[in-house]
Amino acid sequence: MSVFRRVRPVLVLAALVPAVMSAQAPQFSDAVRAFIRVQAPVVVLTDVRVIDGTGAPARPNQTLVIRDGVIAAIADAGRMTPPDGATTIDLAGRSVMPGMVMVHEHLYYPTGPGVYGQLGESFIRLYLAGGVTTMRTGGNVNGFMDMKLKRLIEAGQKAGPAIDATAPYLNGPNTFDQMRELEGPADARRQVAYWADEGATSFKAYMQIRRDELAAAIEEVHKRGMKITGHLCSVTYAEAADLGIDNLEHGFLASTDFVPDKQPDVCPGQQGGQRTIAALDENGAPFKALVKKLVDKKVALTSTLTVFETFTPGRPMPPGLDVLLPQLKEQFEQNYKRTAQSTQSIYTTLLPKAFALERAFAKAGGVLIAGTDPTGGGGVIPGYSNQRQIELLVEAGFPPLEAIRISTLNGATYLGREARVGSIAAGKQADLVVIDGDPSKTIADVRKVETVFKRGVGFDPAKLIASVSGKVGLW
Ligand SMILES: [Zn+2]
Repeated sequence: MSVFRRVRPVLVLAALVPAVMSAQAPQFSDAVRAFIRVQAPVVVLTDVRVIDGTGAPARPNQTLVIRDGVIAAIADAGRMTPPDGATTIDLAGRSVMPGMVMVHEHLYYPTGPGVYGQLGESFIRLYLAGGVTTMRTGGNVNGFMDMKLKRLIEAGQKAGPAIDATAPYLNGPNTFDQMRELEGPADARRQVAYWADEGATSFKAYMQIRRDELAAAIEEVHKRGMKITGHLCSVTYAEAADLGIDNLEHGFLASTDFVPDKQPDVCPGQQGGQRTIAALDENGAPFKALVKKLVDKKVALTSTLTVFETFTPGRPMPPGLDVLLPQLKEQFEQNYKRTAQSTQSIYTTLLPKAFALERAFAKAGGVLIAGTDPTGGGGVIPGYSNQRQIELLVEAGFPPLEAIRISTLNGATYLGREARVGSIAAGKQADLVVIDGDPSKTIADVRKVETVFKRGVGFDPAKLIASVSGKVGLW
């Protein structure tokens, strides 16, 4: 009869075997404690709308019990008596969705010509404030920062999402000041082994890598039970899929598969590829053949619409610019003005094409995951960008519940963390975003984040944002 009966054994079990049933947060430093709004052994959220991240319809009037960092029970209101001594929070009018799991994040930002500033300290707070509780950094020009921050967050010394930390880029000859150049397949293997030993949990190949280096890197990464993605150019998507890559970044906008005179191992320029993509027919045989290959080989595709939006004339000003250092804010506003005045921009065609191609890929059974890529010419601000990415997926034609699934459960499944995070279900870690509104109907409500629970601890987004506001660019 009452759901409470089914709930009881779970609660008792949790008390008996905390090591198995608990996702309890670590001891937090004072600095982290300053951002916490809710922390108690048992927290009960009442009268809340649950958007569980699986794509299932939202369920109104739910009671959700969090015990020792884990979702102990979810039931219709009135069908469960909250446990004694619990901290109860009335969430009438609010929704909870899973903490976002996004996979093309960075701890760096374009601060000046040829320079990416290492902004890990502010970015991890902004990501958490925006509702991101797990993220993969999609490439690294920091050296050790991604790995170190991952550990410090896990240890409770800093506030931020759980991080899948990517090693420095694996790339061929390039002009980036902060990027190494591989010297062949043996070197690729050596790089992977070194960074894996240093604690990297993910790898990324970049635009000038050669096929033999990519093949060697993939083999070494897989030998260690990890995954590798690529923002490619010199290697086509089809070639990379055949070599066994796990993931490709930027939807189809980095594909050079359709460049007619493409030379093997040579990048024909990002624009060379993009001209062919802008002209690509999403219903045509060549595109369908590529999609089939990616689906057959189970290659996931990362949508990063946020960064492309900043290149496109006529788009709204991106959210979150006020957190930037004034000089960086002004720098982006100048870029924005220049973009707005550009009448020849390929992105006018390319952004809607990206929408159509990603939709076609997902419809054909492809695994679409989401990220935001805070690089380009600036303006992609962590946390704010993750909310914007979900809005853009809806603009691309995905129903809100589907856009939320792509940004939560799909990411968790790709990262192999779906048993613990990515959706709201009893037994999973209590990583939840409390939203003042209903994003299952009005997607813009994803911007109204009130509290972000990570392992059952509720963080205050306003405090996290205030702690960095006006300083993002310095640290
Ligand atoms: Zn990137």
